[in-house]
Amino acid sequence: MNPYKIPFNKPQLVGAELRYMQDAIQGGHISGDGPYTKRCEGLLEKELAVARVLLTTSCTHALEMAALLLDISPGDEVIVPSFTFVSTVNAFVLRGARPAFVDIRPDTLNLDETLLEKLITSRTKAIVPVHYAGVACEMDAIMSISARHRIAVVEDNAHGLFARYHGRYTGTFGVLATQSFHETKNFTCGEGGALLINDPQLLERALVLRDKGTNRNRFFRGEVDKYTWVDLGSSYVASDLQAAFLYAQLEARQQIQSARERIWRTYWRGLDAWAEQNNVRLPVVPSHCEQSYHMFYLLLPSLGQRQALIAHLRERGILAVFHYVPLHLSGMGVKWSAGKHDCPVTVDVSERLLRLPFFTGLSENEQASVIEAILEFKM
Ligand SMILES: *Cc1c(COP(=O)(O)O)cnc(C)c1O
Repeated sequence: MNPYKIPFNKPQLVGAELRYMQDAIQGGHISGDGPYTKRCEGLLEKELAVARVLLTTSCTHALEMAALLLDISPGDEVIVPSFTFVSTVNAFVLRGARPAFVDIRPDTLNLDETLLEKLITSRTKAIVPVHYAGVACEMDAIMSISARHRIAVVEDNAHGLFARYHGRYTGTFGVLATQSFHETKNFTCGEGGALLINDPQLLERALVLRDKGTNRNRFFRGEVDKYTWVDLGSSYVASDLQAAFLYAQLEARQQIQSARERIWRTYWRGLDAWAEQNNVRLPVVPSHCEQSYHMFYLLLPSLGQRQALIAHLRERGILAVFHYVPLHLSGMGVKWSAGKHDCPVTVDVSERLLRLPFFTGLSENEQASVIEAILEFKM
């Protein structure tokens, strides 16, 4: 039983999910790489204009594939924000890499591109920007640093599917990018993800890595007469049942995104004046970024006020949550970090940030009661 009248997140069905799953079952192909997997991959390739998209079991696994594809090995360093989900970093640490933690910009909360070059060493193998809240990182600066130092960029685009930077989709800048279809993201199949391959040279090996290190893909294409173990790998292929669910959601992308845009704008309109009066900061979206409407957050003046607002909303049956606990200060972050990194903005923001209930099916009434409860809160 959910004790909250208004939860933080609720998965939203758009209608065709069950029909497509039933169709997959009746079609007799429910393992990976079936008709619905191909439909999802094709839709994303066409819409985003990327060379290849491979559906995976999660964004975490797509990040693990990226680390394998870049041959990340012990002693290598990877530049990552401290203000992110653990998988952004863990996927590389699994290969033995040491994270160099970069702080974030106080406005968009994306990694601060002006700090990148100070962190680059001869061992740096990758930069992993996270498009926080689906607002793009400063990709012009990041890509020119990447080109100058010949360091790969892997975009963690878990929040940012269909967001744009200067008109171009996020996820199309780095050699590789990753998407999440976890229940908490804009488009979902429960658990799922995708690897976006912008460098076609990485495709053949990606197909092997996600299929247990075998060349089964070439066997299916009739290029070899038996398949065998040729590389490292794991089981990263998503089931066609999940792909069927996801395809319904991706087909309804306009409906989903416009509902989320409306929710985001309603929060903004309802809270703008209150925020101004109470020294609370609302999200910043630069004019050259089209966001993906993934979340709505508040930056309260202090940790105490944030905790008090969480309690105030809880008393009214509303669940609001915070994240991320700075990774550079976590046990694993301290143990694996490539050097000591100060990330003062990350530490400050992580104490003051609060995410409001935000999901595609949030009703006007529900949202009105969240806003009303916030306006009643005495700072
Ligand atoms: C959700 C999320 C992930 C992990 O996604 P999964 O599909 O659950 O593995 C990675 N990075 C960021 C920034 C996320 O928000």
